[in-house]
Amino acid sequence: MIYPFHYREGRLFCEEVDLEQTASTLETPFYLYSAAEIKHSCTVIRDSGRGYDFKPYYALKANFNPALLKIILQQGFGADIVSGGELYFARRAGFKNDSIVFAGVGKTENELRQAVEAGIASINVESRAELYLLSRVAREKKRRVPIAIRINPDIDAHTHEYISTGLHSNKFGVDAETAFEMYLEAAKDPWLEPEGVHMHIGSQIESEQPFVDAARFLLSFIDRLEKAAISITSVDLGGGIGINYNSPFARPEEERTYVKSILSSYLKVFARRRLKLYLEVGRSVIGSAGVLISRVIYTKKTPTKNFTIVDAAMNNLIRPSLYKAHHPIVPLVRNDSNTWKTDVVGPVCETGDFMAREMEMPELKEGSLIAIGGAGAYGQSLASFYNLRPIVAEYLVEGDRVKKISPALSPRELANRFEW
Ligand code: PLP
Repeated sequence: MIYPFHYREGRLFCEEVDLEQTASTLETPFYLYSAAEIKHSCTVIRDSGRGYDFKPYYALKANFNPALLKIILQQGFGADIVSGGELYFARRAGFKNDSIVFAGVGKTENELRQAVEAGIASINVESRAELYLLSRVAREKKRRVPIAIRINPDIDAHTHEYISTGLHSNKFGVDAETAFEMYLEAAKDPWLEPEGVHMHIGSQIESEQPFVDAARFLLSFIDRLEKAAISITSVDLGGGIGINYNSPFARPEEERTYVKSILSSYLKVFARRRLKLYLEVGRSVIGSAGVLISRVIYTKKTPTKNFTIVDAAMNNLIRPSLYKAHHPIVPLVRNDSNTWKTDVVGPVCETGDFMAREMEMPELKEGSLIAIGGAGAYGQSLASFYNLRPIVAEYLVEGDRVKKISPALSPRELANRFEW
């Protein structure tokens, strides 16, 4: 499939929508998503699991807009949640309780209660203390709870240190020895059903090897449990499959994500084992489907640098500031202006507020519109009111239609929550 964000005669389109025409009638910045690209990513993930007892779960943390959740639900995905808030959104969007899995290192008693009451598919336990608390909650509620224990395999996912999660120095999960002891305890507990193992080694992983190593580690751990008469029926493989943030727009689909190559190698390790395979993916579902549209406010040259100052900032898209993440940036209308090396920065009062640094791009005039690509995941879901800037609106494109799927949240609305 041709990438829905593509140029026609120098003008950027999303599906059948001319983005400059649309953006000039709307308040910038705003997020805009392509329904076709979301469906396409879901299809690629589902197809990669063909031949296995496979079910993908969508990690709501990547983007929780209900209109997008509904598309993903219709694509046959379950929901992967990490808080009571995400449980509420998942259920309200229509995900069935038995299609929800719950991870997270700090689930509160209240959150565990909600999950047990709902009867979700699995609670992925991340510490001994959580196991004991969950056992108490399950006993009180008189509900047998299916669990997986999140194992930390001490594998380096070669991703940014803030989104690497499978090293012993990370806070997530437990080491294999502790996990083994926890399974023995859980197996004796009448209120816990230790039926799965869980692992998630990090996010934005671009190569197969860390997944393959992790899968082998898991299989030998499952064998060890079998010898101790603990029978595991499902493996939650986590998520973390990277997308390609480097390519320009209009790239071929094979280059958009690493889903096909990674999943084919990852799942192959489990071939011939009778295990249900769950995947928890966020970025590879929604990342390539979203752009942040922004307008150039000023340009400025200093003796050492050029700055393109735009109206989107780190409160809208924090990934460049947080992880030095790269996002492609392109004009909505190409012209023959010179290119220059520029920092693309927002108005927030932080030196770390940038969308790109030293990027070779057209020298844009004030008022020009740009698209910041690959912004569908971990964009709006990490937005804040910092500097009392609004949380921006979101739009969904389907064919030639553009629909507002969330209004902007203004500082005025925020102000109404306070006593003055
Ligand atoms: N599962 C867990 C436990 C996570 O922590 C995350 C992300 O941090 C995900 C799934 C989703 O990761 P991704 O969006 O990289 O697929």
